[in-house]
Amino acid sequence: MSNQIPVEKLKKIQTPFYFYDIELLKKTAQAAIIEAEKFGYEIHYAIKANSNRKILQILSEAGFGADCVSANEIVRAVECGFNPKHIAYAGVGKTDREINTALDLEIFTFNCESLPEIENINILAARKNKIADMAIRINPNVDAHTHEYVTTGMEENKFGISEWQFSEIVEKIKSLTSINLISLHFHIGSQIEDMKVFETLCKRVNEIQKTFELFGIKLPHLNIGGGLGIDYKNPDSSSVADFKSYFEIFNKNLNLYSGQKLHFELGRSIVAQCGSLITQVVYVKNGRQKSFVITDGGMNDLIRPALYHAYHKIENLTSAKAEKSYDIVGPICESSDCFAKNEMINETQRGDILAIRSAGAYGEVMASQYNLRELPKAYYSDEI
Ligand SMILES: *Cc1c(COP(=O)(O)O)cnc(C)c1O
Repeated sequence: MSNQIPVEKLKKIQTPFYFYDIELLKKTAQAAIIEAEKFGYEIHYAIKANSNRKILQILSEAGFGADCVSANEIVRAVECGFNPKHIAYAGVGKTDREINTALDLEIFTFNCESLPEIENINILAARKNKIADMAIRINPNVDAHTHEYVTTGMEENKFGISEWQFSEIVEKIKSLTSINLISLHFHIGSQIEDMKVFETLCKRVNEIQKTFELFGIKLPHLNIGGGLGIDYKNPDSSSVADFKSYFEIFNKNLNLYSGQKLHFELGRSIVAQCGSLITQVVYVKNGRQKSFVITDGGMNDLIRPALYHAYHKIENLTSAKAEKSYDIVGPICESSDCFAKNEMINETQRGDILAIRSAGAYGEVMASQYNLRELPKAYYSDEI
């Protein structure tokens, strides 16, 4: 059983809720920052993974910049202590209102995903007599070997600008006076477990930087995105991602210009392991071939299993009996409201408390009120 989850305290709280291990969050944040600093790299924490204010405050204090995908995220980031000068802003559908907010706050870069977007930012910046610093988000056509819903760097994905468009884009950017190209940007997907994928990405980026040199372009920044995966099967033995090996791959394989600064946008690997969804067993229903554990938490609280068939380790915190195999399902009226099939947990009964582990990333932020349920609350190890 997980030693960092204080069962006796959690028993008193109304389920379902998110529980965050703040000590682990800080330890993870520090490990990432220390390993990145060895090479002078900057990490922008990808706010969309978890935009909980307390978590953001801890990460801004730890020294992260921010990576945002909406103006509301930018505003939230600034409110929680992130310096706008270290905020990157991505997204294929930035609206005028959002762009204006980002221009007013004078963020680090707009990571631009299409020609019409670049033209629009130029117009809006000109109206404010400003020059917007931008990166071209490039679709490098590298397969991240991850779930199709979290693959973003293939030509058929909606993200980024492909190689055949480079010369047109470069000509256009040279003609626009209210934008300033400072960086290329890449983000090929999420939950990437095969480190070779990052080597392949480095090789592509080297080629693409060469192509840009042919256009006479050598930029002061390079942003390689995020995507480092975590170990959902072993949340305790692999509680902190291997940031050391990750950054070493880029140091070894990427050809940076002298003085060129490398940026990362990590989300999941910073926050996933510190969070658990805590839920109570409402009923145990024995079928002929399987037993169902029905919990009071559902897909509205944590949608990853339903949306991506994602695996989360589940633990019974209140039983010491031998393990049994169960399908662990939520109460929502959808067959996809299933957290795990044939999961081995300590034999359970009505009233037991379960922890659905590694739920700190893309958990609380994706919660909804479907079935008119309450949004899950959050509790923290240093406050209960
Ligand atoms: C989601 C996202 C990230 C973070 O991805 P993780 O897999 O959580 O590290 C980084 N950059 C962009 C542009 C994103 O959309």
